[in-house]
Amino acid sequence: MDKNFIIDLIENGGEISDSEQVDDSEYEEQVEEQAVEEQAEVGHKTRHKSLTNVTLSMLPPLPIPRHNKQRERNGGIIVVLLSIFFFVGTTHGLALEAFDGFEYHSTIWWVLFILIYSQAGLAILGLMAMLMVDPGAVPRSQQTCFPIPEQMTPALRDYLEHKGDGVRLFVPPGNNYLAALDRSGDTYCVRCLVWRRSKDGKHYHCNTCQRCVKDYDHHCSVFGRCIAGRLLSIQGNYTFFVSMCALFVTAFFTSFVAIVWSISNIYGPAWVVPIACLVILYFAVTTRLLVTGPMALCRTCRRR
Ligand SMILES: [Zn+2]
Ligand SMILES: [Zn+2]
Repeated sequence: MDKNFIIDLIENGGEISDSEQVDDSEYEEQVEEQAVEEQAEVGHKTRHKSLTNVTLSMLPPLPIPRHNKQRERNGGIIVVLLSIFFFVGTTHGLALEAFDGFEYHSTIWWVLFILIYSQAGLAILGLMAMLMVDPGAVPRSQQTCFPIPEQMTPALRDYLEHKGDGVRLFVPPGNNYLAALDRSGDTYCVRCLVWRRSKDGKHYHCNTCQRCVKDYDHHCSVFGRCIAGRLLSIQGNYTFFVSMCALFVTAFFTSFVAIVWSISNIYGPAWVVPIACLVILYFAVTTRLLVTGPMALCRTCRRR
């Protein structure tokens, strides 16, 4: 109570005037608000403090991928091996051996032979690289997981306090990323619980793999993995994926040229156009089986 208020009180015979009653109630409200703010601050500090002790092993497990990686990977291997078998078979087996349209072991015979087998060899190397190279998933580490953003504090606290009861981390739908407060451009994935550093490039959370991936292009359900990285870069598998697609096209043309050329050598140039049409039809049917068929099974390609 201030000094004037006490003088007023004496002058009024101990009765509090209406105006003072209002002032006093305002004062009480202010005190109450201040107390609530202080409490909130203390609570906030306590919550913050409790999360400074969180270690990597205490974090909730990474989300479970929404696909059968093994099955999809086997499908990709079968598609590549069938394609190799088909293109080598049509070039070497049909054009160079069965049709016998080239002089055996002539220069053109050797060119087509070396071309198709080197393409097959590169396709196998590309397949192995595709299966072994990490697309660029952001790993959980001391650098990528901390500091945990304050917005995650209530959900993480709730998880840490009740994880023994089978409580999982609650992530509000449609709120995938949190921006860093320091305007660095970094973003925090609320599903993987990792920071995606803007200096490392663009990132995307793959909804199929349930991981944040650097330089994400798409998720390929044929190979059962994300396709990510930059062309001609050793990081990620994007270069290998593009190489495999390019090898498919070049192998197609090698087989095409070999068959048409070989048959025209046997039956004469007049047969080149009708034979080419037949071969195109044959390849169209096979491409439907080897490429667009598997693509129809791919969730990402189907959406495009
Ligand atoms: Zn993520
Ligand atoms: Zn993916």
